[in-house]
Amino acid sequence: MTRADILIDHADSVATCRGPAPRAGRAQGDIAAIPGASVAAWRGRIVAVGPADEVARSVTLEPDAVVVDARGTTVVPGFVDAHTHVVFAGDRREELTRRLAGATYAEIAAAGGGIVRTVTATREASEAALVEAALPRLADALAQGTTTCEVKSGYGLDTATELKMLRAIRTLAARQPVDLSPTFMGAHEIPVEYRDRRAAYVRLVIDEMLPAVAREGLAEWNDVFCESGVFTPAESRAILDAGKPLGLRPRIHADELALSGGAMTAAAVGAVSADHLIHVDEAGATALADAGVVATLLPAAAFFLKLGRYAPARLLIGRGVPVALATDMNPGGGFSPSMPFVIALAAFGMGMTLEEALVAATVNGAAALRRSHDIGSLEDGKLLDCVLIDGTLADLARIGAPVVAGVVKRGRLVAGRLGSSRV
Ligand SMILES: [Zn+2]
Repeated sequence: MTRADILIDHADSVATCRGPAPRAGRAQGDIAAIPGASVAAWRGRIVAVGPADEVARSVTLEPDAVVVDARGTTVVPGFVDAHTHVVFAGDRREELTRRLAGATYAEIAAAGGGIVRTVTATREASEAALVEAALPRLADALAQGTTTCEVKSGYGLDTATELKMLRAIRTLAARQPVDLSPTFMGAHEIPVEYRDRRAAYVRLVIDEMLPAVAREGLAEWNDVFCESGVFTPAESRAILDAGKPLGLRPRIHADELALSGGAMTAAAVGAVSADHLIHVDEAGATALADAGVVATLLPAAAFFLKLGRYAPARLLIGRGVPVALATDMNPGGGFSPSMPFVIALAAFGMGMTLEEALVAATVNGAAALRRSHDIGSLEDGKLLDCVLIDGTLADLARIGAPVVAGVVKRGRLVAGRLGSSRV
């Protein structure tokens, strides 16, 4: 018998998503569901998952164990949101209003809005203020089932502010339940003061920012906005290559607004993840598949920016690229913290099945953050991070209805209306 201190008891179905990660092609939709199942954990790690009677026989509940009555629910792995900009200062909600009234992003940027406005506010904010502002955003994400979240810097665009943002992310990781995966993104935009000397800014990122970030051990990832008008493929490659010997692994914003060489750059530098990919073509998809890059798609960004199109998920899946999903939570066009909303957009906007979207939001998100050993599926030895959905997987599409009945992080019920009883 194995000891357990929490039992998620007798769910209608447990979508374990167990098996190899990441998942590509036909396997993208393999959620390995078990009907009438339970999950048990001890000290945060899963010790048993399977048919309810088998789990009941195989574990001994500790005297103070928590039992969650999961009847009527579908249990899925905690959502892994592999792309966010959740740390920022300032308020750009009025830009939303103007965009809905017809203003273009270029017009808003010309009037001092856009990323530049967030950079100004973030440079002025204290580290403590950045932390306080981000806490409720992470709580909102947790309530929607997000148990692990990538977070980027990139609203500083100077060394001191980039470091301040990353220190805020480190503090946030210790102050709330969602596990955070920190990304340095000094190459989010060319700051205004470097607009006529962009090469000097690229040197600043490579020569000063990256070593400073590495020295303090503040980030796992190095990200670049590779796009027409932002960083070229050559600049992106130089920045991403420079991070590698410092232990900062590459990921990239690729082909969001135009076919800009982003997917090709991702493949060439061996990026772990290429994100957005709205304009990726067949050659780009093949290059990503050959290089083993995860495609992290952000349909909520395309939705809120009214881009009128989504990334070609079916092309990517057909070519064997593992697809992940993320929210792109940010101050300008990322107004929803909700992975269920992203899953619904993936299904109804990009032609993915709900099963494919679930794998994208869990197993493949974990792979996009190189955390598959710990999270992304419900298997013995992994963290018990899971979401209890009222009803079935299809209920995730009931946007606005409170279908996330419970969220468990590291074996603790941390959100949702579901109560638990003690043994
Ligand atoms: Zn982004």
